[in-house]
Amino acid sequence: MTEKLYENDPMLRSCQATVLSCTAQGKKFLIELDKTVLYPEGGGQLSDKGKIGDAVCSYVFEKGEQIFHECDRPLAVGSEAEVNVDWPVRLDRMQQHLGEHLLSYACFKLFQANNIGFHMNEDFVTIDLDKNLSMEDLLQAELFTNEIIWEDRPVHVSYMDSKEAALLKDKMRKFNSKLTGILRIVAVEDADMCTCCGLHPPFTGMLGSVKVIRSEKHKEGCRVEFLCGKRALLDADRKNAQLAAAAQDLACKPEQVPERLGKLKKDMAALHEQNKAAAAMFLDLKLAEALEKAKSKADGSKLLTLCLEQGDGKEGKLLLPKLGLLPDTVSIVAVAAGERLNYTVVRGSGSGADCRAYMKLLNEALGGRGGGKEDCAQGGAPYQLAWREKLAACEPQLLAL
Ligand SMILES: [Zn+2]
Repeated sequence: MTEKLYENDPMLRSCQATVLSCTAQGKKFLIELDKTVLYPEGGGQLSDKGKIGDAVCSYVFEKGEQIFHECDRPLAVGSEAEVNVDWPVRLDRMQQHLGEHLLSYACFKLFQANNIGFHMNEDFVTIDLDKNLSMEDLLQAELFTNEIIWEDRPVHVSYMDSKEAALLKDKMRKFNSKLTGILRIVAVEDADMCTCCGLHPPFTGMLGSVKVIRSEKHKEGCRVEFLCGKRALLDADRKNAQLAAAAQDLACKPEQVPERLGKLKKDMAALHEQNKAAAAMFLDLKLAEALEKAKSKADGSKLLTLCLEQGDGKEGKLLLPKLGLLPDTVSIVAVAAGERLNYTVVRGSGSGADCRAYMKLLNEALGGRGGGKEDCAQGGAPYQLAWREKLAACEPQLLAL
């Protein structure tokens, strides 16, 4: 069995220990010690990292009564080694963990919202609440939490029998009455009290600050993402830099970015409308030009061909109502749109032509695929340099239909 020195002294950074066992597992070695300052993953808190002698310990876990230290090299059984905790990592874990206690307490105290889930990883921390709180509520809870932090209140850890602890359950934020034996109670003075096996700083001031980042609806309540201590600071630095970069791009002060973006959005919408109107005008001009050049067929009807070198492929569809009104005319609209060629065949009023026959010839000439109905057909082919020449080459056949 390993003596858990971290349980009663979360500030202890090192100890001398004896190696009890060392087992190879893949490229790693699982080491057991007679005592340790390294906290194994559990209770929602991530594992510590550190060193045992020269061995780098990247993960610690508990299996039954045993604690295993996953290391990069073996250590001789019976040898003595100094165990050192990676302090910045430990401090980060403790800050996020106590932050979870205090923010949960604030949500419970102010809004009667219960914490029903906690997730911590290397990048973010979340709590799940059984009530959907607004961002305004959460910012109120955030301020309440930070006030407790700034008062630097002591965090007490005590042990008591489950029956004795049950007498205190009204004072606790949550209490699991199914727990038996000796329980570990973590209490922030005049604030949160609950059963917990994780590690917490001895004073709330060490937490630095808590910052709520975002919240989203989750089941009946919400999932709240927050950051504590150095993570909150780094997040603020990152967002500051992003805002400064955006302000530089927009040639304004950081506080003017939302207003400037709002204006840009409005300008863009107006430009989009202008663009649409200009494109429609251009299409009308092109159509008028094609109408003048339309070829006459043997039966007196007309064949109109409109070719566009650059488009978005939707031009044929846009012109459909107008082409459908052209008397006794079959219209072909072919558009090069990026890596595709799109073509549409439309029969005008009074024409008895079958657009599918025209489509078949176009498909053969351009190596494409498409079909449709008697009055309208659509097709497409990969873009090819000589597409206009190919269309022109098949014109006699189209005129003969
Ligand atoms: Zn805890």
